[in-house]
Amino acid sequence: MQFSRYSSIGWVAVLAIGAGVLSAQPAAPAPFIAHQLKANVYWIEGGGGNSGVIIGDKGVIVVDAKTTAAGGKELLDNIAKITPKPVTTVILTHSDGDHVNGLAAFPAGITVIAHENNKKEQETALAAGGRGAPPADHLPTQTISKNKDSRKIDGVKVELLHWAPAHTSGDLVVYLPTEKIVFTGDIIATQMPDPLIHLEKNGSSEGWITTTKGIVALDTDQLVPGHGPVQSKADVQARLKQAEEKRAKIKELVGQGKSLDEIKAAVGDPAPAAGGRPRFASFTDVVYQELTKKS
Ligand SMILES: [Zn+2]
Repeated sequence: MQFSRYSSIGWVAVLAIGAGVLSAQPAAPAPFIAHQLKANVYWIEGGGGNSGVIIGDKGVIVVDAKTTAAGGKELLDNIAKITPKPVTTVILTHSDGDHVNGLAAFPAGITVIAHENNKKEQETALAAGGRGAPPADHLPTQTISKNKDSRKIDGVKVELLHWAPAHTSGDLVVYLPTEKIVFTGDIIATQMPDPLIHLEKNGSSEGWITTTKGIVALDTDQLVPGHGPVQSKADVQARLKQAEEKRAKIKELVGQGKSLDEIKAAVGDPAPAAGGRPRFASFTDVVYQELTKKS
């Protein structure tokens, strides 16, 4: 089947963004774009976190499912342009809504694999209810508690890896040892130079460093991040080195009794956007909280 790099839906969205600029309307969401990595492996950007698409013998394995039911449907439409095989399995890299909630559009009865802590976080969010809660009828059907789970799914060798709490306590890194491709989830998210840690989901800056060391030790040079373009191993090593150095500097300054504001100024933390608080705690906020927490 011929595969077009830009889906027609993507072009419509590009035109909509152009029209939005001209008429000063809010910009349309980023278009869906499918990128091929290997004969049987793609990643699709747009509509939330990046998704992986792995084509097996009889069906398709998807990594992460976009933010909304509409996004999940657009993802399935894009997959249908790549292969006529049905989606049978979804692997979730973590519990954030921009990777999970699009499952609402997925067929009933599919296998959903996640780390056990991811499932707990989804159950907590579901009990809290409201906007952004995960779809109740697509909770994980299989949970992973081991740090390394090697299996074959539909003829494809897959390793599901967890070293420590990092972005969240339920992170799962998806490694394809034959194709040498890694899906990192938001352990790597390129819209920010520093790691993004959800302390409210028991993420950890130290665990992030442990996890990222584990990732760069894998035999790979194609790493699909949770957000942003494919990274090389050198890209991820540079990100790791920067985070290690920044964490060490923050630790040193905490040891000298400096205040959070003094530390932020010293390490060059980005200033909050005018008129608002940043959406997420910065890496400096997180490390400071971890190191000054009274246990
Ligand atoms: Zn995300």
